[in-house]
Amino acid sequence: MAIFSKLFHKLCYKIIILLAFLLTEIIILIRKLKSSSYTGPITTKKYLRFIEEKNPTICYSKKSSKLLKLKPPRHVECTLCLSEFMEGEKLRSLKCQHTFHRDCLDTWLKDYCATCPLCRLKVVSDDVVSQHRELRKQADSNGMVAITM
Ligand SMILES: [Zn+2]
Ligand SMILES: [Zn+2]
Repeated sequence: MAIFSKLFHKLCYKIIILLAFLLTEIIILIRKLKSSSYTGPITTKKYLRFIEEKNPTICYSKKSSKLLKLKPPRHVECTLCLSEFMEGEKLRSLKCQHTFHRDCLDTWLKDYCATCPLCRLKVVSDDVVSQHRELRKQADSNGMVAITM
């Protein structure tokens, strides 16, 4: 009987060590997950807000077109849909001073590339793009067309 209880104690001791080891591993893993810059997938709405913050929408008018620092040759047309800017249309001008219709550019940025269609200047940072893509992938696999949260 004494041998049996000794064995039992030894076993308990080993199990406790194993559990403590597992616990520390789990804590390390949780800390790693929390400390990484991962903030969850970015919805299309958030993604567009992000673009808007950096490149605010402007309203086109013949007068204001002089204020737009359009790169030579002074594009007065959207190179995405190849139509001329009309009075009162919503435009978006990027840091590279390339200007497009807001809707044309937003579609381009969210569906194709997160770069300027003309000069490939990065418009949105890589982690924002990858987090947005991740959500779109999930949405696609769920058979959803768009997420407007
Ligand atoms: Zn356009
Ligand atoms: Zn550009």
